[in-house]
Amino acid sequence: MQRFSNKVVVVTGGAQGIGEATVKRFVKEGAQVAIIDYQDEMAQNLANKLRKEGKVTESYQCDVTNSEEVVQCFKEIHYKFGRIDVLVNNAGVTRDNLLFKMNENEWEIVIDTHLKGSFLCSREAQKYMVKQKSGKIVMLSSRSALGKRGQTNYAAAKAGIQGMTKTMAIELGPYGINVNAVAPGFIETEMTKSIAERTGVSYEDIKENVIKSNAIKRVGEPQDVASIIAFLASEEASYVTGQVIYVAGNVTN
Ligand code: NDP
Repeated sequence: MQRFSNKVVVVTGGAQGIGEATVKRFVKEGAQVAIIDYQDEMAQNLANKLRKEGKVTESYQCDVTNSEEVVQCFKEIHYKFGRIDVLVNNAGVTRDNLLFKMNENEWEIVIDTHLKGSFLCSREAQKYMVKQKSGKIVMLSSRSALGKRGQTNYAAAKAGIQGMTKTMAIELGPYGINVNAVAPGFIETEMTKSIAERTGVSYEDIKENVIKSNAIKRVGEPQDVASIIAFLASEEASYVTGQVIYVAGNVTN
């Protein structure tokens, strides 16, 4: 399928994990992709590798919580590619801790990365999308938005993402822009590995517990999320907006 021929896609946090799988999914379907990440070397390596395969990709080092950097980065992307059709607000971090031990820094970095980062990037992208009278924004929420021990900060951020998604969908719909979110459950990436490292619980035990407790008896892969992001960014989903799709291998409520 080449659903994204001539489309320009921006993926934040695109150097690894779900972001990397999303970048690869979009280029496979014909898109030109701008990769934004903190991790400049990893993003550059990914862009170089894809360019060698004949794909059009560029990497941009940018902290999505830094307003000046975000404004400059989107200007450069628009200058280079001439338009912005899709934004995937994927950059994320975790700083898990029980509430009574959580410090302000752990609260702020998580809230800032997800909420301020998605706000700043969406505000820049919509400038171009509104002029084009078309665009798709896909947000990354999480199963944790429904509550998870040790994730007061992350749950608040990911529940906030759902409110942002619905509100941006209302404001931007009249300009031909769809805004939706995916809410993954446990997906195997550096993020989930680092949670295991920090909590001291064995990664294999964490995965075993996930498999035991969910309906589809396996953990998630980044590609499981990338395919739903691509669907929501495609014309096939043009009458869907303000929705949250759980990609969690389980029933959620
Ligand atoms: P990864 O940690 O594997 O990748 C996230 C990338 O975003 C990293 O390269 C990270 O850099 C980068 N990043 C973090 N902060 C910033 C910033 N301020 N500016 C630019 N780049 C930044 O995460 P995942 O692939 O696992 O997660 C991707 C998204 O999916 C996140 O929003 C996450 O919350 C969400 N999600 C993930 C789940 C999972 O189980 N993996 C489940 C539910 C939701 P660095 O390494 O330096 O931090």
